[in-house]
Amino acid sequence: MASSLLPQSPMVVEPPNNLCSQCAAFDLDDALRFNPGVPVRTVLKITRLKPETCSLCRFLSGSMGQVPEGGVCSLNAVQSHVAVTPLLEKIEAPILCVERRGEYSLFDLFGIHSSIIFDPDGPISQNLRAITPLIDDYTEVREWIASCVQKHKCHIPRILSGSKHDTKVSNLRVIDCRTRLVGKLPQSGSYVTLSYVWGKPDGQQPGVESLEPDVLSSNLPRTIEDAIKVTLMLGYDYLWVDRYCLEKSSEDFHRQLKQMDKIYAGSVLTIIAAAGSDGNYGLPGVSRRRKVNQPVHIGHRTLDSTPIFCSDTLESTTWSTRGWTYQEGLLPTRRLVFTDTQLYFECQERFRMEGWMAREDLFWRRGEESTGSWLDTFNEPDPGLLPTVQDHAMIVLDRIEAFSRRSLTYESDVLNAMLGIFASLEHSDRLKHIWGLPYCDSDPLRSDSTPLAISNQKFVSNLSWDVDFPARRRVDFPSWSWSGWAGTVRWARGLKMLFMMRQHRTTSKSSCAVKLELQSGKIIDWNTYQEVYSSSVNSTQIPSRYIHISAYITRIMPLPLPHSHVSRTYCLESDPESTRTGSALTYVDVMPTGKDFSSFLLQSYVLRLPWYLEYGHEQECHVLVVQCRGSHWERIGTGMTSIVFESAPVKKSWTEIRLG
Ligand SMILES: [Zn+2]
Ligand SMILES: [Zn+2]
Repeated sequence: MASSLLPQSPMVVEPPNNLCSQCAAFDLDDALRFNPGVPVRTVLKITRLKPETCSLCRFLSGSMGQVPEGGVCSLNAVQSHVAVTPLLEKIEAPILCVERRGEYSLFDLFGIHSSIIFDPDGPISQNLRAITPLIDDYTEVREWIASCVQKHKCHIPRILSGSKHDTKVSNLRVIDCRTRLVGKLPQSGSYVTLSYVWGKPDGQQPGVESLEPDVLSSNLPRTIEDAIKVTLMLGYDYLWVDRYCLEKSSEDFHRQLKQMDKIYAGSVLTIIAAAGSDGNYGLPGVSRRRKVNQPVHIGHRTLDSTPIFCSDTLESTTWSTRGWTYQEGLLPTRRLVFTDTQLYFECQERFRMEGWMAREDLFWRRGEESTGSWLDTFNEPDPGLLPTVQDHAMIVLDRIEAFSRRSLTYESDVLNAMLGIFASLEHSDRLKHIWGLPYCDSDPLRSDSTPLAISNQKFVSNLSWDVDFPARRRVDFPSWSWSGWAGTVRWARGLKMLFMMRQHRTTSKSSCAVKLELQSGKIIDWNTYQEVYSSSVNSTQIPSRYIHISAYITRIMPLPLPHSHVSRTYCLESDPESTRTGSALTYVDVMPTGKDFSSFLLQSYVLRLPWYLEYGHEQECHVLVVQCRGSHWERIGTGMTSIVFESAPVKKSWTEIRLG
């Protein structure tokens, strides 16, 4: 039936007290009473939400973002003194939160679907506030930044402290937000950086290219326009945006990529556009209205709500799934995050949220137990995005693992998008890498070895990462580096400990295990390479994709699988140190095409890495699964020796192979 035949709907303007029968029986005065003796109780149970007709049901649905399946929910009163956050301490009032399943769970206070529901006329409103669709005043954000600049130690970027390197970026080009010209940053100029998702690489975004190289188009993507506006509103003149400020055509491009740590850490603030999936989305609250939950009036009282910011809020964004944005979130000193629900600020010591107005000292401080910080997004055991003084370069293995779960538009960016992180750790902890495979060249805890031999061991042991099966090769990168494979990368837990504790045991021939083939074709030994190592791209000593590794090599002999859940392969290999033979559980990362798996395996060899871990009497030895490709070999999998048993000797040979 055509809607024009119907009378004007009386539902357009909702009567204020149009409550369903369940909500009508709700005693709001009682629910909002401070009751320290009953820390948590359910004050309203709804078996079926009626958001179309009932104003309280609509408000409760809005506070969850959506109507839960089945429409079941309950409203719980949590007394402020037990509300899992110091922010509400000493306030004698309850907060309300909705639970989808109809039963109370403390966890849901920090679940993504939960907003905090509160009485805006009660004492709790001194700490909580509802979000407005647009940010009309930046005074408070300016105070967050000013407080950090004046009171914290965040202004000395931790990743750069103690560094012998120059901490300034030379010839940094920035957007002058007043003139819309792109030019060199003035000597004493402060600048803001932007992290955002470019979007589809179709080149169709409006206003990306301007005819004159130094003049910005008047029709920029919405996110860039908004970032320019926010930069000015916060009292700064200069904004750095990779797309407009990196000189792609110049020889400087690669050098600038290696300075990403300095570019981000050196900026006064990084604006993170966490919402939307491309540059045309805009910053929520700036040009784009945020969806807010309208307050509800019941009798003489009002209920309002404010969203909780937690790691889930960020995890569900495109921004947190992209490769390039990983280091952009990690490297800055201060971050102002624009999400669809609210503004979030985090520096090195504190975090702040738009919906929470409490004193700064009530918020989390680095080193204390964190609650609700989005830092959890980065899966850190220690709350903190940047390397701290205590951080060891081993953190790089976690960083690579996290990065490998993200997606890239261009596979060729796989190393470029990590160069800032490598650079930050190189400055602070002498971390080096070859094609992204990291190692350290210092080991203060061991005096019985030279640093060079140790760096060789670190490099070789870090070869034993694993990638989710089936993984896809990135053929432009070497097979022995994680960068050569698209998929989630993992290092063994034991190996990470080893990276930290430096308790290596190596077999007798390990010291000469790796030689490097340079792009010139020259082959040099490890120690010589370390002496000429330079992160400069202009160096003539750039390693090619080939390393020459010496190790025991054994042809794979597939065995019947002992357990059906153990997939991929199981093989025999010999113990290089004795006549014993052991079995190695090996994992092949590729699904062979055009041939069956067992004949594929029969063309494979295991390469015993010349190091092992010791756990009491147990030894854990690692192998690479390799196949010959004519002039060179490729890594196709990894493995670990398990049960060592007496058996017929397997033919083994100490061989040097060219692995690429
Ligand atoms: Zn209702
Ligand atoms: Zn700070």
